[in-house]
Parts: sequence; structure tokens; C-alpha cells
Amino acid sequence: MSELTPREKKKAQKKILQLSAEIDRHDRLYYRDSQPEISDFEYDCLKAELLRLESLFPENSSPEKIGDDRGGILLTRAHPTPMLSLENTYNLTEILNFNGRIGRLLKIDTPLIYVVEPKIDGLAVNLIYEQGQLKYALTRGNGTEGDDVTDNVKTIEGLPLHIENVSDLIEIRGEIYMDQADFQRINRERSDGGEIPFANARNLASGTLKLMDSGEVRSRRLQFIAHGLGMGNNFQRQSEIYPFLERLGFQSQKYFYICEKIGDAETIIRQLDGERKRLPYHTDGVVFKINECLLQKNLGTTAKAPRWAFAYKFEPERAETILRDITFQVGRTGVITPVAELEPVNLSGSWVSRATLHNGDDIEKKDIRIGDRVIVEKSGEIIPAIVAVNLENRKNKALEKFIFPKNCPRCATELLRLPEEVACRCPNENCREQIIQKIIYFASKTAMDIDSLGDAVVRKLVENGKLKTIADLYALHREDLYILDNFGDRSISRLLSNIEHSKKTELWRFINGLGIALVGEKTAKDLANYFSSLDAFMGASVDDLMQIRGVGEKAAQSIVDFFGKEKNMDTIHRILDNGLEFSIPSTVKNPKFSGKLFAITGKLEQYARDEVKVLIEQNGGSVANGINGSVDILIAGAGGGQKLGEAEAKNIPIWSENDFKNALK
Ligand SMILES: [Zn+2]
Repeated sequence: MSELTPREKKKAQKKILQLSAEIDRHDRLYYRDSQPEISDFEYDCLKAELLRLESLFPENSSPEKIGDDRGGILLTRAHPTPMLSLENTYNLTEILNFNGRIGRLLKIDTPLIYVVEPKIDGLAVNLIYEQGQLKYALTRGNGTEGDDVTDNVKTIEGLPLHIENVSDLIEIRGEIYMDQADFQRINRERSDGGEIPFANARNLASGTLKLMDSGEVRSRRLQFIAHGLGMGNNFQRQSEIYPFLERLGFQSQKYFYICEKIGDAETIIRQLDGERKRLPYHTDGVVFKINECLLQKNLGTTAKAPRWAFAYKFEPERAETILRDITFQVGRTGVITPVAELEPVNLSGSWVSRATLHNGDDIEKKDIRIGDRVIVEKSGEIIPAIVAVNLENRKNKALEKFIFPKNCPRCATELLRLPEEVACRCPNENCREQIIQKIIYFASKTAMDIDSLGDAVVRKLVENGKLKTIADLYALHREDLYILDNFGDRSISRLLSNIEHSKKTELWRFINGLGIALVGEKTAKDLANYFSSLDAFMGASVDDLMQIRGVGEKAAQSIVDFFGKEKNMDTIHRILDNGLEFSIPSTVKNPKFSGKLFAITGKLEQYARDEVKVLIEQNGGSVANGINGSVDILIAGAGGGQKLGEAEAKNIPIWSENDFKNALK
């Protein structure tokens, strides 16, 4: 631009190069490695700044690229029609600009009608069906070709491998995501096992989709939600596509609104912002799509994005505060977690005084120092995290670089860091803090549920040598408890009777309480349902364990290793000697199908598919996607097709709906 002096021009050009390189690096971290260093908001700010600078030099602006997720390991394939990303904004007035631009391109001055839907923070995939059969599942890749993730996508529960009454080639577009409950479960299991927890569900889903081990992928329970069509779209309106996708058997977008005039956009956004907190997946904005498919076609696309759709993204809640201290937690498996102790600050209506610092690498990368002013961000249901340091504020302050301790903050043993792990661990099996945490976990609500055996009580008993393992709980005597503060005779009696009562419990509670790495509450329930007895569980091989939906190879190995240790077996036998009795898990009312894996095919008359699934699970069984070696029973409705043939070939028993109904009685 003519107003720029040559010097300013040079400066701007230099900045463009810097920004491009930085954005490339973040693209790699986000799309390929699934371990971003910055939040989406920070990333979008960098992008916006680059665009602004590039607009100063229209003569040599580079073509806009879309982030490339191809990892260079999996096979790649071309998309039948390009798969583009969406333009986005954080600014409400920009929506009016988008709308104005579309109106001008179409030369229409009557109000444009949009479909507005939540923007799922997942991974875009393209499912290509040929003659109704799922042929390929591809990631977005560079927009023209993506990584082939077909095998992994096939592990998604309920995803139809065959669809009926569709054109020869149809592209189903949607997002792969992991629901919040599974995200939290896997992260908890990962940190217990000393592995790097993922910063959010999206990264976990994208990391999972690129794994080479489909068994592991299956255990992580990815989900898919369909929201559009590529090739094979013969609809007049976008709003007709969602019910169509549902009819084909996909989970589709249920929460869409029709925006009759752009003036209603803000109200709809507010409404969806309120509703999104109840959705099982994380959303980061809303998507506007022109409803008339003919207009969509007329508008076409730019190299990067369709012209007929755009996204409005919600700004994450963030605030600046002072980092008072960095403290450490020692987990029950010895993992050391740094915690930021903050000057309390208000974030989305609640006071935040602690935030996660993930691990030592993260502190070093962000160069976080005690005394810094830091930016805390909270997006959705995720725990607050420190995203950056206000370096401006550090000037003229002699803050020392933070050095991660070399020794356990509780027992002083030198910390260990395995090559593939980001977490540091205290390797001392007798580390008192680990023992305390193990016993607290054993007694907790999601394990043995021993009331009045709280954290402080456990701590005091361990520190005074009354408890060394979980087995010692059952050997406690009245006089051992006299040391407890504020515990009179009645409290002592109550605690002893609660411990006594815990001897009659559900099997999954005991399994969970053992604290086996990579086995959390959900997995413990699956294991208990499957084996129904502790002996059967303890005797299982890695192969046996991997038959269970939700148990991958790593978890299976971890279980076998656990029971292979003499010390663990000793503890278990000491506990059992006290006469523990396990009942059938309460999640299973009636274990008729305990351990059985079902598949379902064809059109059912008396039940909805979901209903059958729930009934099977309530009775201790589980449901597979397709026919594989471990399927025990196929339930076949009308027109079972391919699955029926496969089951016959494999000699798998086939049940009619009535057989199923009778079995339930
Ligand atoms: Zn220690």
C-alpha cells in the first residue's frame, strides 16, 4: 500500500515470514501430532494477524492453505469432492459482513435463510460409500486427499458399514469426536499409567484415529456425528439432510435451527451457547450454512472454504492473574503433577485459584516462573490451564527460571522418567504419599466406598504406621484409632463398622480399588461384568482380556503384570482372608448375557436398535459393530444381508427378534 514507507514495508514482510513459519509449526502440532502448544483462540489470532498483514501486499499474497493433517504414515487417498474447512470469526458483526457478501454474490436482496448448528470440536472425516458399502474413511488431509483411516473408523459403535437406497457413490461428511466422559476416563487412566494426558477431547480423538492398532482404537470408543454430504447430495435444502442421515442409521445433528433472517443470528447463537453445555461433545462455536442447496452450488467455493458456510466461534474465558507458587501432587502410581497456585481470579462465574500445569516440559516450553502474571483459560468443562505468561510484566523483575525437582517432594527418592513418558514418577514403592493415595483411592466413592475413612484419617493412620497397605484396613483394631483427632468412641465404632460393611461389595468396586494402571471405574465395571468372579479375572490372559470391548492391549498387559507381582497377590490374599463377598454388579440387573458379544443386522420390527443395545448391556452383554471372530450371537431382523451370510459362514448362532425376546424373559 502506498501509505507504507519502505521501512514499514520491510518490517511487515519480515513479520509475514515469521508468522507463516510459526503457523506452519502450530499446524503440525495440531493436525499431525495432536499435541498443540497454544489454544485455538491464540492460533486464530495469529492467523488473523497474518491475513491483515498480507492484505497490505495484495500483489504477492500467497494462496491460503488449509491445515494439513496427513501424518505421512497411513495411506492417503483422494476425496471424490474436495473437503474444505470453514472461514471463522469471533466477532458478531462479521456475521453481517458474511451475509452481505453472500447476498451481493448471489445478487439477492431478500433475506437469506440459514441452518445454524453447533460446531463440534472434533475431526472432520469423509465416509465414502460405494453401492451402499463403506469403502473408505478419509481425514480432511490437505482438502484434496486425506489419510485412510477406514479400519479405525469401522470400530465406531453403531456406524453403519452398509447403507441402503443411496446413489452409487455417496460421501457422508461429519466429525469424529470423543465424548467428555470417555475423555476423562482415558485421561485419568493415562495419568495413572504415567502417560501424557491429552489437553482436550479433540486431541485425544485425533491421536486415536491415527493409531495403527485398531484394538486400542476400539477401546477408546470414538463416535461419529454426520452433518453433511459431499457427492450424492440431491436435496433441495440442507435441513432435509439431517433427517436423511438419521434414516441411514447415522447419529446426526439434532440441534439445528433455521435462521430466517440474519437479524436473528445473535439470539440463536445465545440459545445454542446455553444448550451446548448439555451436549456430550465439546463445541467451540456455531456453523451457519445457506439452507437452499441450489444457492450453495451457485456460490461454490474458494480454494480453502465453501462460500456458503461460515463459523462463529466462542471466545474462551480467560483472565490474567499472579502465579503465587508451583506445588506438586504425588499420585498413587507415583506420577508427579505440578499445580499452579494462583491469586484467585474470576473465570466464567467461578473463582479459580489452582490450574493445571500438565508436566515439567510444559512449564519449560512456556517458561512459566513463580511470580509471573499468567493467562488462565477455561474452555467448556475442561479444567483451567495456564496458556501463556505476560512477559511484558516480567521486565525489570528478577524472576528465577523454574527448575523441575529431581527428587520426590515427599520421600526424596530420585525421580524416574521413562523415555516415552512425559511424566516424572517416584519409583519408591514405599513412598508414603503413594501409599496414602492408594488407600484413599481404595476407600473412595468409586471404589470400596468406605464412609468416614476420609483423606485426613488415612493420612494420619499411615503416618503413624497403622496402615501400610490396603489390606491393613481390615486388621485395624479399636485401639489403633485412638490416635485420630476428634474421634470419640462413637466415631471409632462407626468407622470400624463401615470397614466391616465394605466386605460385602460389588466386584467392580474391588477391581477398581486395586488401582491397576489403565483400569478406571468404567473398565472395572466391564471386567466385572465379563468375568463375574475375581478368580476368573485374575487368571485371564492378555488375549482373554482383549476380548472385552473397552480393554486395549496396554490395559490388558497392565492387568496381567499387576497380578504377576507377588507383592500384589499377597495383599489381595490378605484382604480376601478377611472374608470379602462379592455380589453381581448393580449395573447388571440380570446377567443373562454376561460376557456375550452380540451383533445386530437387518430391520427390527419390535425394538429400536438402540433399545436392543441397552437391553443387551443391561443384561451384561455388549454389542459389536460387525461380525468378527469374537461375536457370539447375531440378532437378525428382516433383510439381514451381508452380516447374515458372514455369521452363517462362521457358524455364529443367529437369533430372530422373538428368540431375543424369549431369552430376555
Ligand atoms: Zn516418593
